[in-house]
Amino acid sequence: MSAAKFILFDLDNTIYPRSCGLFDHIDNLINRYLREIVKIPASEVDFKRRMYMREHGTTLNGLITHHNIDPHDYLEFVHNVPLEDYLEPDTKLKTMLSELPEKKYIFSNASNGHCQKVLDFLGLQDCFTAIFDINYFDFRPKPDIEIYQELLDKIEARGEAGVMIDDMAVNLKPAGELGLATILFDPAAADHNQHSTENRPLTSLLNLPQVLEEISSGTKA
Ligand SMILES: [Mg+2]
Repeated sequence: MSAAKFILFDLDNTIYPRSCGLFDHIDNLINRYLREIVKIPASEVDFKRRMYMREHGTTLNGLITHHNIDPHDYLEFVHNVPLEDYLEPDTKLKTMLSELPEKKYIFSNASNGHCQKVLDFLGLQDCFTAIFDINYFDFRPKPDIEIYQELLDKIEARGEAGVMIDDMAVNLKPAGELGLATILFDPAAADHNQHSTENRPLTSLLNLPQVLEEISSGTKA
């Protein structure tokens, strides 16, 4: 088996760990948007968000479908976060990424502006060839398999030549169906054996070179 030629990285809760608190801040802003802008009663917010995620892939797509909201307005609201409170340059990650020969892309359900700012604060702005964000796909989110295929067409690559890393297994499923090797980023996973065999587990991004080596050598997950 030949080595992977490209890697798709999720951004939120993958390129930085959930434990840093940034995504909790975004999560609270999403709740505020539902309460204050869309005027959904506070008691219904959790339920509606779970329903939108399940039926539409993201809260945003549920709000577009059911409440006809302006996606730009929503993305600006929920990404209005003081990133400096949560992120700092990650030199170890930068060195590791710089030494990987594969082409690297961000593949995110967030906005391009958010992705760029996060990468800037982490010092990783030069590590990626391109960012495929929610605007690029006209607000169609992962796990819509159509956008995975469109991404492969755009970078002129076959699925079998690639690897995808995401903290949500549901987002890895279409990638696996298109032939990519899939890696589930889960810093809390102490026991690798608890994972499904569909995705390789990764508890730290710094262990990525080792997992890529296992993939290219055909070692079982
Ligand atoms: Mg994520």
